[in-house]
Amino acid sequence: MADIQRRKSVTVKIGSGDTNTVRAGWEAPVVVQSMTNTDTADAQSTIDQVEALALAGSEIVRVTVNNDDAAAAVPHIVEGLAKRGIHVPIVGDFHYNGHLLLKKFPACAAALSKYRINPGNVSIGRKDDDNFRTMVEVAVEHQKPVRIGVNWGSLDQALLTRMMDENNRSANPQPARDVMMEAMVVSALDNAAAAERYGLRRDQIILSAKVSGVRDLIDVYTNLAARCDYALHLGLTEAGMGSKGIVASAAGLAPLLLAGIGDTIRVSLTPAPGGARTEEVHVAQQILQSLSIRSFMPQVTSCPGCGRTTSTYFQELAEQIQNYLRASMPVWRQQYPGVEELKLAVMGCVVNGPGESKHANLGISLPGTFEDPVAPVYVDGHKYTTLRGDNIVEEFKQILDNYVVTHYGQ
Ligand code: SF4
Repeated sequence: MADIQRRKSVTVKIGSGDTNTVRAGWEAPVVVQSMTNTDTADAQSTIDQVEALALAGSEIVRVTVNNDDAAAAVPHIVEGLAKRGIHVPIVGDFHYNGHLLLKKFPACAAALSKYRINPGNVSIGRKDDDNFRTMVEVAVEHQKPVRIGVNWGSLDQALLTRMMDENNRSANPQPARDVMMEAMVVSALDNAAAAERYGLRRDQIILSAKVSGVRDLIDVYTNLAARCDYALHLGLTEAGMGSKGIVASAAGLAPLLLAGIGDTIRVSLTPAPGGARTEEVHVAQQILQSLSIRSFMPQVTSCPGCGRTTSTYFQELAEQIQNYLRASMPVWRQQYPGVEELKLAVMGCVVNGPGESKHANLGISLPGTFEDPVAPVYVDGHKYTTLRGDNIVEEFKQILDNYVVTHYGQ
């Protein structure tokens, strides 16, 4: 497997005060981030969700800062998290009124670890250039990095119209794709240059240019990456729900990551009603882990099952083991360094079960029936025991726990 040659981007440090310092750039691992969907003014709910995202492994969490109440809540959120021992850097997402909020609420400006500015609604292409400048100057004053986040849903219309005119195209009703992609890159680069003129250093600037089409995403980031050395945040915006959002995000991010492009990533899934917000963190981690870029948690190899699968018991086993690993990781990550490299196999029968199990650290296959389950267990390629009866899941978890303590305990 060929090594991935990371693009040599400038490394940005994100973190302040009570929070961890996370580095985003070519010398650092690709960072996973996420965003809350709580009302930021509801500090308690936001603290709860940030904590859940951080425990799931999100290394940066963004919150929207859209009004006075949200800005006033930010310092309390950061303080509340620190009291719970959660030190994840918090990024403020600003649109339209960010210049007003950052000036009016200096405690918010100080508590945040990074500001996200959308140049489409506070842009140098518009007459209100002062708004962008104000936000950058607050960042300079507080020594905070900024992400200049272009999004094609809110692209600077003045810039787009000018570029369409220059290319003899009309911006209405649908702008030409090629000009739009170029406008996104130009918007990001022009605003980054302006931010430097207003006092930010290159190692305080991250760029993003998010679109919702997979091919467009690959094109726009490939272009952007070739034209600058700023750190890049990747994400397919509005990826969608369920399997569509997951597959589209993986399809868009994987070619870029394999080309060494991308210093932080977010997977923007629409959660199912009542669904866990943390899913986007797990998917982002899985994309990086599937590409062997980073390891976040033990991987479970499980077969799809087929006509030979004599019951659904093995599917239940696979799901329960997966859930157990996820639930255990916040503690294991602290106590058992390297545990994320562990490999498990959960197989439905003896055709591939023993073979896959031998490639894993721990393997189990279930050739028995619901009424009479029988499950040979392999440890490091050797037959260890055979579990029987109705307590197989708990007994396998015990074997797993023992393996983790024995092999990863310090
Ligand atoms: Fe079917 Fe067995 Fe292969 Fe699983 S391991 S897919 S149950 S043949």
